Amino acid sequence: MRTRLAPALSLALSAGCALVLFATQGRAPEPQPPAWALAIHGGAGTPPRDMPEDQKRAYLDALTAALADGRTRLEHGASALDVVEALVVRLEDDPLFNAGRGAVFNAEGRHELDAAIMDGATLGCGAVAAVTTVRHPVTLARRVMEKSGHVLLVGEGAERFADEMGVERVPNEWFSTPQRREELEKRRAEEESKRAAGAAAEHGTVGAVALDRAGHLAAATSTGGLTFKRWGRVGDVPIVGAGTYADDRTVAVSATGKGEEFIRHGVARELAALVAHAGMTPEQAAKKLVFETLKPGDGGLIALGRDGSIVLAFNTAGMFRAAADARGRFETAIW
Ligand code: ASP
Repeated sequence: MRTRLAPALSLALSAGCALVLFATQGRAPEPQPPAWALAIHGGAGTPPRDMPEDQKRAYLDALTAALADGRTRLEHGASALDVVEALVVRLEDDPLFNAGRGAVFNAEGRHELDAAIMDGATLGCGAVAAVTTVRHPVTLARRVMEKSGHVLLVGEGAERFADEMGVERVPNEWFSTPQRREELEKRRAEEESKRAAGAAAEHGTVGAVALDRAGHLAAATSTGGLTFKRWGRVGDVPIVGAGTYADDRTVAVSATGKGEEFIRHGVARELAALVAHAGMTPEQAAKKLVFETLKPGDGGLIALGRDGSIVLAFNTAGMFRAAADARGRFETAIW
C-alpha cells in the first residue's frame, strides 16, 4: 500500500509545490512595514481659518517639534510606549493645548484632567480621571498601568497614588492660562443658549500613537476635557477602548472630540475590532467610524496599523495633527 501510494503522493506534492511556487511568483511581494511610524494630535475642533499667522505658526511649530522629538526617539530604538508617553508629557506642558498646563476650565472654574496610556504588546493599560493637581496625568496613567494592579484611578485616590509614586503635583491654578479663562467667561455668558442647543465646547486634547522598531504599538491621550463641563464629568480619554486603545495585532488609536459620543460607540476598540474581524484596513475602519458612526462635528482620531499605515481622520473643521515614519514622511497640518 505504502509503496503504491508513494509515487502518487510525491506527484501530488510536487504539483502542490509547483502551485505554491506559481502562486508566490504571481503575487506582488507584501510591502514591508516602515521600521517605525508615529502620529500625534493636538485636538479636533473648529480652529478658525483666519487664525492669526503667529498663532498658526505657534501650533505648527509645537507639533513639528514634538514630531521631530518622536522621530529621533524611534530612530534610536525607543519603545512605542516610552515615545507616546514622552510626547504627551511634552504637549501637556505646552499651554497651547488642552491638556496639562493649558487645560480648559470646568463649570466651577477649576481644572479636572483625564489621561490614558496603553501598551499594544501586552494590552497593559492605565488611566486617571478627574485629577486636579497632577502635572503630567499621562505619567500617572502609566504608573497606574505598571504599579497599581488596576486600570483606572480617579480624583483624590489617584492623587494619593501620585504621591506614593513620586509623580509631581502642582496647585490647580498652575493649569490656568488667560486664553482658557477667556473661553470660560465666554462660555459662561453663552451658557443658557449653548446648553439648550446641546453644543459642546472647544476641543484641544493631545494624543500620540507609535509603532516602534520592535513592531510594538502604543497609544496615549491626555485632556482637560470640555470647557464648562460639569464637575465630576469624565470623558472618553481615560476610558480604554473609547478614546484610547492599542493592540499589536491590529491598531493603536487616540481620539479627540465629544467624549460622550466616543464612549457611546466605543470608538477606539470598535476600530480595532473592524480591523480584526471585518477585514478592514485601519483607514477603512476609521472612515466608517468617523464619517458614518459619528456625526459631523463630533471629532476625529489618529490611528496606526501594525503595518505602519497612518490614519488621520476627523469630521470637524480641523484637527491639529502630525505624522512621520521611517520612509521619510514628516507632515504637520491643522485643516
Ligand atoms: N475627548 C475629550 C473629552 O471629551 C475632549 C477633546 O478631545 O477635546 O473629554
